[in-house]
Amino acid sequence: MSDADEAETSGADEEVQFTLKAVINRHKTKVLFAEIDSQFADALLSFLTMPLGKMVKLLNDHYRDEAPPIGSLTSLYSGLSNLDSRHFWTEGCKIMLLNPRSSLEYKCSRLKLDINDTRLEKYFCCEDPRCSRPRYSNISMHRDVGVCACGRSLNREIGVRNSCELADGDRDDGVFVVANESFLISDDLRLVPNVAGSVMGTLKNLGITDMDGAELRNVVFGFDEVIDLLKGSLLSRTPLSDMIILNRRKFYIARPKPERGIHEREFEGSSSIKKTILKVTVQKSTNKLLFAQSNNDFVDFLCSLLTFPLGGVEYHLCNNTPFKGIDNLYTSLADFIGDEYLANADIRKSLMKPSLPHGYMSENKILPLVGNTDPRLFYHKGLGMDEEWLSYSSRDSKCARAIKYRNNGGYYINGRKMYMVSDDLTVTPLCMISIFSILKDMKITLSDVKEVEVPIGVDEGLSILKASLTSTTALTDGLMLNPVLNKKPKQEPRGYFMHY
Ligand SMILES: [Zn+2]
Repeated sequence: MSDADEAETSGADEEVQFTLKAVINRHKTKVLFAEIDSQFADALLSFLTMPLGKMVKLLNDHYRDEAPPIGSLTSLYSGLSNLDSRHFWTEGCKIMLLNPRSSLEYKCSRLKLDINDTRLEKYFCCEDPRCSRPRYSNISMHRDVGVCACGRSLNREIGVRNSCELADGDRDDGVFVVANESFLISDDLRLVPNVAGSVMGTLKNLGITDMDGAELRNVVFGFDEVIDLLKGSLLSRTPLSDMIILNRRKFYIARPKPERGIHEREFEGSSSIKKTILKVTVQKSTNKLLFAQSNNDFVDFLCSLLTFPLGGVEYHLCNNTPFKGIDNLYTSLADFIGDEYLANADIRKSLMKPSLPHGYMSENKILPLVGNTDPRLFYHKGLGMDEEWLSYSSRDSKCARAIKYRNNGGYYINGRKMYMVSDDLTVTPLCMISIFSILKDMKITLSDVKEVEVPIGVDEGLSILKASLTSTTALTDGLMLNPVLNKKPKQEPRGYFMHY
């Protein structure tokens, strides 16, 4: 990356730096652990708040041509960005999906280094400045996605003031962890408080058994290094060693084979979860999945994957994802970081079981997501006729009103069109010509093709989500256990419809 590119992507945070004290093994081949301050621990924990779509965008924007593909998420993202706006409810819906936001923005805006730049996020109110409906109850997080009670679009920007100040109920001692504490991170991103007097216990928690001949090295991390660390947490089992000892850009890219099956988990309200039918085209002679045809229900589900924060992925996949660094960070919150090290009592839950921002819940939900009912934003009106603003604190003025969001009813994709979904989750409008040309390119005859209808519910949804994190054949890997596709001859499973 050139210096010019570097300056452009580093943005306002380019001056922010952290110093890590890294302990390196005797052979200088591995970082055993590093001592970090609470502000760096906050930046690290903010990874859990990042929606998958935002993560893909951030890596694409930062690394450009060298951006690493993340499973099928990268092709899902680029497929949706190439899909014409008319397929979405509004142009705003498409922009929202390509720039998904976190329900913990009010926290992240106070980070020393916020790679998401949440401080720059905007909100929108009725386009009519003279609208008589209450402004505070007609707010949207995205332009042109919600409709005011008067029927007009919510597309006039309203600013957030003092976004770095404390939100109501927050204490001034840290964002996620308490301020001025020191923490240790292992090479694979286990995070533990740096407690004097329990050295052996701490090393055990970090998985370290041998410290002989270890040496200390001070390392400076800025914006680029934190993004490298995010990338490393997704692709490597030893991100710190990769960055500090090896050339930081040459990550060992761990691509574990997707495991078969998913963990059992009880979901709240899962009885309201619907199933949708996916029509899968399979090559008869090889039983290979070629592509799927779906209506907007399934495409809405794929869209919603981009809005899922990493902490939510961890929760729903029972802390067993291909992102081992993120797995470890998540487990650290449960296992090692006591309440006394957290900035407030709600933090653990908000990071480990995060909700989606209001308005992000699709009515077509296949996965049991939870929407945020507490926007933590207040509407303020000043003395001047036109003076109005939002802030995270009700203390900001005497007439603060908690805001209420309005949205489009929770759909992303408009109408009842059919779409083609390729194995890497690229979504395109369904078109006979393209199907024939795909089959022709693959040298597959029509007589060698069958269509199979696969019901997609919570299990299939989670399985596709898990596969999408690491595999470029997410449909095949996500549905490989499905009895319809994992065909056992002469034993047609009940409840499935097969078309030959
Ligand atoms: Zn209005």
